[in-house]
Amino acid sequence: MRRITRQMHVGNVKIGSDAPIAVQSMTTTYTRDIDSTVAQIKRLEDVGCEIARVAVPEVADAEALGAIKRQIKIPLVADIHYDPKLAMIAIEQGVDKIRINPGNLNGQRTAFDQIAKACMERDIAMRIGVNSGSLDALHQREAEMRKVQVRLLEDGTLEKSDPADERRRERDDLTMRMVAKALEYCTWADELGYYNYDVSLKSSNVLTAVQAYRAFAARSDVPLHLGITEAGTHVTGAVKSAVGFALLLSEGIGDTIRVSLTAEPEEEIPVAYEILRSLELRSRGVTFVSCPSCGRVEIDVMRVANEVEKRLAKVQTPIQVAVMGCVVNGPGESRDADVGLAGGRGKGVIFRKGEVVKTVPESEFLDAVLQEVASLLPEAEAKIVYPGTGELGAVSGGRTRKEGYKSLPMATAATSEE
Ligand code: SF4
Repeated sequence: MRRITRQMHVGNVKIGSDAPIAVQSMTTTYTRDIDSTVAQIKRLEDVGCEIARVAVPEVADAEALGAIKRQIKIPLVADIHYDPKLAMIAIEQGVDKIRINPGNLNGQRTAFDQIAKACMERDIAMRIGVNSGSLDALHQREAEMRKVQVRLLEDGTLEKSDPADERRRERDDLTMRMVAKALEYCTWADELGYYNYDVSLKSSNVLTAVQAYRAFAARSDVPLHLGITEAGTHVTGAVKSAVGFALLLSEGIGDTIRVSLTAEPEEEIPVAYEILRSLELRSRGVTFVSCPSCGRVEIDVMRVANEVEKRLAKVQTPIQVAVMGCVVNGPGESRDADVGLAGGRGKGVIFRKGEVVKTVPESEFLDAVLQEVASLLPEAEAKIVYPGTGELGAVSGGRTRKEGYKSLPMATAATSEE
């Protein structure tokens, strides 16, 4: 059950209330390098990114925004820290949204009013983007969080504070300061009659971010942009984001998300959609089922599964695809999927919509699976997925269990089925 919020819009993308939870990302290029920035945003568009944010550290970056905006399809957000003049240039350049950081906006209310009025005049959105790392005196606070307080009691013994209690107290204090800052800016916006904005309360600490979002959601109906900032590389970033977002989204909190990874931004988008699909909040793209492989495996399931998933990365039509390594769970999962491959002794059975279509050797797995997937897609997507027979090549190392046994030192080739 989604939290009831106001609805705002960023260009043609609606955020909040009953709008689908929007997926966004941020470029890693120098924004003034217009060609590279446009190319990266186009790659983001290809994999389903719905809003793109760019950093605007200097005037040259702000002045590049109009040229970038004219060459892309999705809404463009200017990320502004410190200098309100950069926001004013970005607004002149016609961006769709300004992100400001209440923790470091020079000029505070005067600057905010100027930016918000200019946004209102041009129907431009804003994100009030609070970041725990930018709030005053945070570093001293974090240092205190790690300290254990020791007190000398009257009887001469020492009493040590519980570090977990200290951390909880400091987290409570930090999250309430984040929420208070966000609410203060929301009040300023509302007093101007400006409502086309959302709020984020990011932290690199999952529990701090979750607590801040929950506390804000209990006090306001402003839409929320979820993010765990500086989350880390592929595994740590994806896990932290998934844990934080799942806790919040399962409570109905969150209207747009950005998964932060120390990686190419287009790698953030599949993670974001996977989280939303897992919670049945969006259905876009491929729901992929593949077995982890085990000692029963009869095909090179890891390589086949990874290649199939990679080739389907640009599919937007909701579709379920299964790649399974043997006869134990393979036929069941493959039958339940829209398209499935159930491996067995160097060959595989291809299923489509629950029916067996054909049996193919391992060298034709990729071709066969993609052909069946393409047959269920609209023409434009089908052409990307399956350019034609024979053009895909084999991806598998052609492993069967019997052949795998032969490579073992004890060379026990016999199987229990033989
Ligand atoms: S489907 Fe077969 S190979 Fe894959 S994990 Fe299950 S038992 Fe192992």
